[in-house]
Amino acid sequence: MKELDEGEIEELLGDDRLRLGVKLEDYLLVYLGVRPCSQITIPAELPSGGEMGRIIDERVYPTLLRIRRGDRGAIGDVKRAMRRAYREVVENSEEYKAHLEWAERLGLRWRIDEVRPTVRELYLYRERGVEKRLRRLMNRREKLRREALKRPRGLGIYLAYPEELEADWVVEMGGLLGYPQCCVERYARERSMGLEVEERAYRQLEEAEADAMAYFVSYFFPCSPSCPEAVSRGRRCLMLLEELHPRLGELYRGRVEENLKLVRRLPTIIREHRAEAERRLSLWRSRTRQL
Ligand SMILES: [Zn+2]
Repeated sequence: MKELDEGEIEELLGDDRLRLGVKLEDYLLVYLGVRPCSQITIPAELPSGGEMGRIIDERVYPTLLRIRRGDRGAIGDVKRAMRRAYREVVENSEEYKAHLEWAERLGLRWRIDEVRPTVRELYLYRERGVEKRLRRLMNRREKLRREALKRPRGLGIYLAYPEELEADWVVEMGGLLGYPQCCVERYARERSMGLEVEERAYRQLEEAEADAMAYFVSYFFPCSPSCPEAVSRGRRCLMLLEELHPRLGELYRGRVEENLKLVRRLPTIIREHRAEAERRLSLWRSRTRQL
């Protein structure tokens, strides 16, 4: 394994083409071997991800209008326009290139999967064994998504992410991302029953004392706000990061506090997300009416 020196870590910390959370949780924790693998959603998790999304929307908009006008043949053209816009806006960006450069410099392997024509997932890992497990998971997901499209009776997230309902898939993926078994199993059980894990996660915070260390990476829900397994993972991450560079410990402490705050704010985030989706829908309707 390649050894990072202090100068390189300072260089990474100073590189504003990557978000701080991504550097700590997705790059350094995989580099340190605490997580077998990490996942970064592109462009959403790039520093200019929101802006990139808006530019892509604008570019694809004229082709989208053709569908709206009843041209069914335009669906293929929309997908092509989306992929082209993704290549031009995201893959050509300095931020995107910086993510692959740092993977290279840290000696990490990676794979990129298309989730939608304008969204990709970047997976970072060290070991070849992880690559094989990931490939199997992605093939299975591909198959589940194709099947879901054939019988679109599911709703929202379950149509777009049918693998979330497959407990085995969720458990295997959670293990790869470095989540404790107890937390992953609870999550998988609840998802497969169609329960809202997000709601459970913030309700638990209203009822019990939390240890921020349990929120050791973002987008992770511990089985309880003080799950001993999750807390011990957080402490191990902190110790290894501190050993690597004293500043990393302090930054990581701030990070886990942010992760915990994010779960507390989930009801507001979900509400705002719905409001934003509705706002976009009504904008879309008003704009197409004018034509
Ligand atoms: Zn747990």
